Amino acid sequence: MNKDIELRIVDLDCPDCAASLEKGISRLKGVKSCNLEFATGKINLSIDSQIIDREKILREISRLGHTAAEESGEGRRVEGTKRLGAVSRLKEILLLIALAAVLIEIGLSILDQPGYLQILFASIAILTGGLFIFRSAFYALKNLTADMNLLMSLAVIGAMIIGEWTEGAVTIVLFSIANYLEGRSVRKARNAFKSLVEQIPHEIEMETADGPKEVGLEDLKKGDTILLKPGMTCPTDCEIAEGTAYINQAAVTGESMPVSKTEGDTLLSGSINTDGFLKARVSKPFSDSTLTRIMHMVEEAASRKSRLASIVDRFAKVYTPVVVAIAILVFAIPVLFFNGAFETWFYRALVFLVISCPCALVISTPVAVICGLTRSARGGILIKGGVFLEKLANVRAVLFDKTGTLTEGRFGVVHVVSMNGYSSNDIITFAASVEQNSEHPIAGAILEHARNLKIDPRQTSGFKAFPGEGARAQIEGARYTIGSHRFFHDHDISDVDLHERVTDFEEKGYSLVLLAREDRLIGAIALADMAKPESVEAIAELHRSGISESVMLTGDNFRTAESIAEQLGIRHVESQLLPEEKSKLVENYRRKYGSVAMVGDGINDAPALALADVGIAMGTGGSDLAIEAADVAIIGDNPQMVPKSIKLSRRTLGIIKFNIVFSLLVKFIFMILAGLGLATLWMAVFADMGTSLLVIANSLRLLKK
Ligand code: ADP
Ligand code: MG
Repeated sequence: MNKDIELRIVDLDCPDCAASLEKGISRLKGVKSCNLEFATGKINLSIDSQIIDREKILREISRLGHTAAEESGEGRRVEGTKRLGAVSRLKEILLLIALAAVLIEIGLSILDQPGYLQILFASIAILTGGLFIFRSAFYALKNLTADMNLLMSLAVIGAMIIGEWTEGAVTIVLFSIANYLEGRSVRKARNAFKSLVEQIPHEIEMETADGPKEVGLEDLKKGDTILLKPGMTCPTDCEIAEGTAYINQAAVTGESMPVSKTEGDTLLSGSINTDGFLKARVSKPFSDSTLTRIMHMVEEAASRKSRLASIVDRFAKVYTPVVVAIAILVFAIPVLFFNGAFETWFYRALVFLVISCPCALVISTPVAVICGLTRSARGGILIKGGVFLEKLANVRAVLFDKTGTLTEGRFGVVHVVSMNGYSSNDIITFAASVEQNSEHPIAGAILEHARNLKIDPRQTSGFKAFPGEGARAQIEGARYTIGSHRFFHDHDISDVDLHERVTDFEEKGYSLVLLAREDRLIGAIALADMAKPESVEAIAELHRSGISESVMLTGDNFRTAESIAEQLGIRHVESQLLPEEKSKLVENYRRKYGSVAMVGDGINDAPALALADVGIAMGTGGSDLAIEAADVAIIGDNPQMVPKSIKLSRRTLGIIKFNIVFSLLVKFIFMILAGLGLATLWMAVFADMGTSLLVIANSLRLLKK
């Protein structure tokens, strides 16, 4: 029987350890496949449950020197964390003993004390400082892998063989200290995205038949009514049932301006009720809430390798064996052929062994990626993986859908034109009748306008919607058509009589829909859809950041589109487009600019988003569909998040590139120094681990405000 298990390794310090642990588990009988992600510490297993069980795997993991926690069930996770605490305390104590011993040993050698005393303290330092390293090295050897623990152990044993006790002791102690620090900082990065859910209250006041009652977060079910006092964080996605309040959604959307919300509005998990007393109906349990999903998605994204990360990984796989081979040659050639001194060249070879650890290089990308993804998630921007961080950073043109992306997407009727003997009430009556089955926001606006005028829509038959064009239906035997200029044009309904009367509205940026009875134009309705106040700044920021090509795509008529584009400062306009033409344009722009991002709502624009190099869906709040469709999902509906996400990606990519170059450079310098005999063992360790720590610290900068 096949079974899938998900576990989390809580003390994964280096990518190397991850690889050898993965190999160790894979070798177990009954394990079909095993995949361990260093970035998240998550391990996914497929096992034959008749041969092996979870307990056995957990035992093996701890035998291999690691601590695992179950994915599900808070209790077990706590247990894993506790065990981790105990192990790291043991490591700390051992490290302190090792450090003391090594200092005494150095003191003794400076004071020229007897050699046996020096050897005694060096041995204590090596044993205590190296305990965990030797243990991992042993398992690596058993699994026939050469990880850095093994290389380091060999180097220290080599140092002892040629009597370099101080060197050996300092090397191993430095390595352990650095390993310990590295583990801590990687954990910091790994846990950072969990901070997203930290502010969620665990005890919630729920309304029941017999008064308010405290319930646990996990017990909230769809349909429960909860009470939110001022200052409280909404635990899960809800709908307001009673009350009005200013809601701060910064934790989910990254926007710090509170928005007013009232009955019927949605509250996302993690948003804060700043000032009102609210009753809210739970619409999703916590495990399914926006915040939980964001967290899972960041984690999933972090485990998807970026292009750079895979290049680095591939390079590291060849790098280590090559340098180990050089180490052997550095020893063998001078000693065998040139009468070189055994000890000198043996020592230099040991230095090469230390240099062959690719740690800093391998760690350079994943930590930066996870920090970048976490940072953007905190700002309400979900980037679905390192690949998209890279692609976003390289975008050359950004295409925006107009309605709902740059504009509010909420239309209001501003003017009704009637002709050929019809009154404006007639126009609204027929328009509303046709639109009553339509989903378009324009339809909603016309129906609302009719309601305000107390006009009841008539009975219709044979309704047909033409997406991006208009709609059509029969009323009392006659065919009524409503839609864009282009739609009318394509159906040979002349709109020339109307021209002069509507150009003005269009130039003001109003959208216009025309109405015809059979093939005769009878009127038109002008609708306003306000540009979002943030759109202007978003476009300006985009241009400032060096992306000179901004494009607006719309099905609306060209005069309206031009007017809005002008208001927003957007460079190019593509108007009167049918949905499939939008997709085609994405391809054209890709050909022209190489790499383009398309911004839309993720539902109507899903095909265009899919065709762009980076598909950015906006206002994805509670919609799974929209989040799924996008490469980058923006939770709120502020278009300023678009330039923000691009800038963040560039920054992350910059840090990654620096990390890679820096760690390669240090290695390279040390290879030359080692070849010339200028580098000592402990210097090589110091450089290697120092680089790793610097690279991690550099990545962690992304998390700072
Ligand atoms: P956008 O590209 O701005 O999202 P759409 O592609 O949804 O716009 O629609 C393009 C145009 O088609 C609208 O501006 C409108 O003129 C017309 N249209 C589409 N659907 C309808 C409808 N149900 N009723 C009236 N007009 C419509
Ligand atoms: Mg649209």
